[in-house]
Amino acid sequence: MKPQSWVSPALAIAIATGMGCTSKSCPPCEAAKAQAAAAGHHASGKSDSNEYYALPGIDHGLLQSPVNILSHETEHGKHTIVYRGGDEAEVVRNLGTTVQLGFGRGITTEFDGHVYEFMQLHFHTPSEHLIDGITYPMEMHLVHSRPGPSADSPPAYLSISILVRMGEANRFLDEFLDAIPTKKGKSTQIHDVFLHDMFPSGFNFNNIHYYHYKGSLTTPPYTESVDWLVAKEVIEAGPAQIQRINLLEGNNARHVQALYRREIDE
Ligand SMILES: [Zn+2]
Repeated sequence: MKPQSWVSPALAIAIATGMGCTSKSCPPCEAAKAQAAAAGHHASGKSDSNEYYALPGIDHGLLQSPVNILSHETEHGKHTIVYRGGDEAEVVRNLGTTVQLGFGRGITTEFDGHVYEFMQLHFHTPSEHLIDGITYPMEMHLVHSRPGPSADSPPAYLSISILVRMGEANRFLDEFLDAIPTKKGKSTQIHDVFLHDMFPSGFNFNNIHYYHYKGSLTTPPYTESVDWLVAKEVIEAGPAQIQRINLLEGNNARHVQALYRREIDE
């Protein structure tokens, strides 16, 4: 499985530095960088200032992410979701702009009849999505993709977002925190790191309820082919755990985008 990343520009230092995936072995991300470069953005991390003061519908479309989810304004949706395959991470990477976990091939999530392959999990500190205006200290993105409808269309993405609040130390994070390379661009093989350990005992992915909406990648080229599933159940992690990830990746959340008549269902 090839890694791929679409972490967001850091809010605080976005104009000066920009952010993005630095993975070398990442076809979707390389394609994204190429598109961004063609559009006048700099895949190296430097960005044109107008990227951050973009006009919706002109510089980008009207389906941008992240968004602020207002829990009392959601619609009733009907979706099916089926998780298949394992959940053991094999490698942890320090990309500088995010901490990313890689997994073996064959882990899929079926959403509304479409099968998406799980590609990677990465972290944002603080959260990109807001719920009722609340920013959480951390957000995990489980990035899935499947081929687009035609050869020249972008992949269709499914991104599962897990928000994290401060609380008890999280077992899943403890399983790999010490293995994260301190040097940007480095990776380490890991063992006995399981996604299901992020949840309290007795809870797993099948228990999760989601908000769903149509959105975009949160880093250039902001491709609008993403089905977002934002978990309603917020998990806990220790303040020191969150701080360790933030020290490695910095503040890497894109600012909130307008909904423009999009509905969020649940
Ligand atoms: Zn992300």
